[in-house]
Amino acid sequence: MYKTVPHSQSLMPHLHLQDLTKHFPGVTAVQSLWLEVQAGEILALLGPSGCGKSTTLQMIAGVVQPDSGTITLDGQILNRVPPERRDIALVLQRGLLFPHLTVGENVAFGLKMRGVGRAEREEKAIAMLLQVQLEGFAQRKPSELSGGQAQRVALARSLIIHPKLLLLDEPLSALDANLREEMQDLILRLQAQTGVTMLIVTHDQAEAVVMSQRIALMFDGCLRQVDTPEQIYQQPCDETVARFMGGVNFFAAEAHGRQWTLSTDLTLLSEYDHHGSIQVTIRPEQIQVFTEGRSQANTLPATVIANRFTGTQRRLTLAIAPELTLQAWVTPTQDFQIGQSVWAYLPPTALWYFPHSIVPHPVQVS
Ligand code: ADP
Ligand code: MG
Repeated sequence: MYKTVPHSQSLMPHLHLQDLTKHFPGVTAVQSLWLEVQAGEILALLGPSGCGKSTTLQMIAGVVQPDSGTITLDGQILNRVPPERRDIALVLQRGLLFPHLTVGENVAFGLKMRGVGRAEREEKAIAMLLQVQLEGFAQRKPSELSGGQAQRVALARSLIIHPKLLLLDEPLSALDANLREEMQDLILRLQAQTGVTMLIVTHDQAEAVVMSQRIALMFDGCLRQVDTPEQIYQQPCDETVARFMGGVNFFAAEAHGRQWTLSTDLTLLSEYDHHGSIQVTIRPEQIQVFTEGRSQANTLPATVIANRFTGTQRRLTLAIAPELTLQAWVTPTQDFQIGQSVWAYLPPTALWYFPHSIVPHPVQVS
């Protein structure tokens, strides 16, 4: 049930992390981490605060040395290559622009380091500023920029050198929600234009889902699941992953092939064949609620015991049996009264399970 990388193994991975470990006094920040990233891919490194995301990124960038393990980019082992020779750009939560340089000089800085002449630098910096929608900002000082503008400059400064790999460490977490969405679009547009391989670190599951083609989910220094956003949502490898991705419905059952019997003696039909004790989960937005009975399988009589309007959803709590309540998130136009009798339909394709006997362990991707 533990996932491996869905990509073809015949291609040499662009970035290959093999058995990376980093200890700090009293804490193992990263433990035996294996990960492959393909050229041009966007991968989100997701996990709660303190799980080792930044340490992983810093080891790739070369600013932190791993205790053990190997970092390979395009077939070259990077462990002993200094950061400035890695062809890797790192953007942090705050851009850390040089305050005494103009915006244009900040953007052109990497070209200057590479010996590119002034006229060419200025021309490229202006073109780059146009790409991040900061036309006319070249003469400003960083102190004259808003937080979002400073992050655009940091992106422009990173991309101007055409790095092989763009690392973003929570680049949007200091920005307010509306601006964040606009910046997410901008980053995705720049990635599509340049084709740069991108690793974005975030603790925000919604951001990881919209920003990436694959998510590497990390807890306590270990990778737990590496999959597409859809798979992580719909087929989490354990309850911790499911809860981190916003799962709220969990209940025990006994699986007899595709028939799963709940402790209430209700039986659900599933797509998955299994035998033995299981923990069942279904995402709240996948439960359908009807006011009239249907003869369809997986339709359970229920009573509405809570009804919360969130603007985009109506979040219902449904009592199925004394020991079984489920959350169903329906469209806000569907209204219900507390105490109302309804039917909850749990589509077989939406049911997922974890065998009780398996203790979660880190995924090894190699
Ligand atoms: P994240 O980015 O996921 O929030 P970090 O990689 O920053 O996590 O940190 C992982 C763990 O390593 C945390 O317990 C953190 O306190 C610890 N840590 C990170 N950097 C250092 C350091 N330079 N010295 C000591 N401990 C550190
Ligand atoms: Mg961090």
